Amino acid sequence: MRFSDCLGHDRPLTIIKAHLENNRFSGSYIFSGPEGIGKRMVAKIAAQELNCTGQTDKPCGLCDSCRKIEKSEHPDLHIIEHGEAQIKIEDIRGILRQASFRPYEGRVKVFIIDNAHALNSEAANSLLKVLEEPPKDVLIILITHKPQNIIKTVLSRCKLIKFCPLIRARLETVLIKNYALDKATAHFLAFYAEGRLGLALRLKDTPLLKEKNKIFDSFILSGKPLDRDLMGQNKEQLRVSLNILASWFRDIYLLKCGASGQEAIHLDRHSDLLKLIPRFSFKQLDEIMATLSESSLYLERNINSKLILHNLGAQLWKA
Ligand SMILES: [Zn+2]
Repeated sequence: MRFSDCLGHDRPLTIIKAHLENNRFSGSYIFSGPEGIGKRMVAKIAAQELNCTGQTDKPCGLCDSCRKIEKSEHPDLHIIEHGEAQIKIEDIRGILRQASFRPYEGRVKVFIIDNAHALNSEAANSLLKVLEEPPKDVLIILITHKPQNIIKTVLSRCKLIKFCPLIRARLETVLIKNYALDKATAHFLAFYAEGRLGLALRLKDTPLLKEKNKIFDSFILSGKPLDRDLMGQNKEQLRVSLNILASWFRDIYLLKCGASGQEAIHLDRHSDLLKLIPRFSFKQLDEIMATLSESSLYLERNINSKLILHNLGAQLWKA
């Protein structure tokens, strides 16, 4: 991977490249922006650039150092990631200890703290020490989609770089050109991921494309009750299924309003979607969307999923 692969993040990349060229890309940074947008990918490419042993065109992506960083196996790259679970003081002690040593193989030790908003207060306060006076061969990158949850003393010691989603049509082009995806897959991923490159790349190797059409064929086209097939799903799978259902109804709504097929997430099923337009009134679509959104909320609150699906099914097939 190279910076040129991260098309669309022009503004953050311009800042990072300028800092790199002036040897100012050091100390502490916060990469902030929506989840799944490619912040961590950019952080890793920056780590490659700083430690690349290639002769030209850094990061070369081919040298030993670049390859190890790509696979997160470089001894001078440390990534802390616990999903949304708390980052505790033990994690930060590990950083403080590692930061006090010189790099093992590379020029700069890079610490990436993913979901930095999950730092608990003890950990955040402990991190301040290294943020205040980072050793010159240490780079710390905090990644977050909830900067408001990070304590001010940490925020104020880091250089903030903001990331924004790509325009969806642009992401579709990036996925076709840089990742050799076919048009239908690229369009779906770009629109479903709402322009977030990182999320689109994560989804591209999942069975989502097949699943989303299965949900459409089973429940929307054929009108089969929801609960029988979705009952066996765990909370995470059900969350995905509800999101997919919402994306279908969003498309029906948009097309009913006269939007072009290019605006639809499910462009690959445009003609099937058009057939459904007369079946639902705007009022019904509003109610279905509201029920779907309520169902997601109930799911988060651990309300019985059988009950959720039963209510949702009744709402959908009333139409
Ligand atoms: Zn390299």
